[in-house]
Amino acid sequence: MEKKDRGSIFIVSAPSGTGKTTLCKQIISAVDNIKPSVSFTTRLPRPGEIPDEDYCFVSEKEFRDMIHRGDFVEWAQVHGSLYGTSRRKLEELISVGYDVLLDIDTQGARQFRKFFNNAVYIFILPPSMKELKHRLEGRMSNSVEDMNRRLQAAVDEIREYKMYDYVIINDIIKTSLKKLEAIIIAERLRSNKIDPHWIENI
Ligand code: ADP
Ligand code: 5GP
Repeated sequence: MEKKDRGSIFIVSAPSGTGKTTLCKQIISAVDNIKPSVSFTTRLPRPGEIPDEDYCFVSEKEFRDMIHRGDFVEWAQVHGSLYGTSRRKLEELISVGYDVLLDIDTQGARQFRKFFNNAVYIFILPPSMKELKHRLEGRMSNSVEDMNRRLQAAVDEIREYKMYDYVIINDIIKTSLKKLEAIIIAERLRSNKIDPHWIENI
């Protein structure tokens, strides 16, 4: 009944510490046929992060070479490191019909909008700045200096919320997951996703 052609793209952005990684990981295991886009980054792995699964960790030289070859659909400097989405990896997934979830910052989302206006743009907000600080402290993987930089950046990132189609306030994780799942399911039910041959033979 559904057309099995190209998958949809879901862009998810949030200030660091909001819970975006937690939400994205859980939604990938809860919903079928959706895959994460694994970004390239020059930042060092955090404890527990798996290379090529959480990120493809590369040197700055490797990253700059990729920029010059035009390998990225979008890339940005975020909190002092470089991050980018591989054009080839993204194409490999959507061309076989997978929906793809991109966890990228607001600069990346803005670049992406220029080429993919039919992607779905979702912004995740923390319930308050106080709670955001608490979550960043709880993650304990950043220095105080880095944490303050992320909190300062959050103020500017939050102002970008209007660029997005949907906003989810990540208060209770279970409720946020339901909301994210609802957005993905609604996107799959769009009239242009139905196979016209199936309608003809209904
Ligand atoms: P981000 O990817 O947005 O930087 P993380 O997913 O790493 O954020 O989450 C930051 C911290 O907040 C983690 O310790 C995570 O367990 C916690 N967290 C995520 N979502 C919630 C929530 N809804 N309520 C309370 N804590 C949360
Ligand atoms: P972290 O270092 O906490 O994993 O991620 C820091 C920020 O970089 C987050 O806002 C995350 O969304 C963003 N990010 C991760 N991958 C990419 C990417 O490929 N492109 C862009 N523009 N941002 C990314």
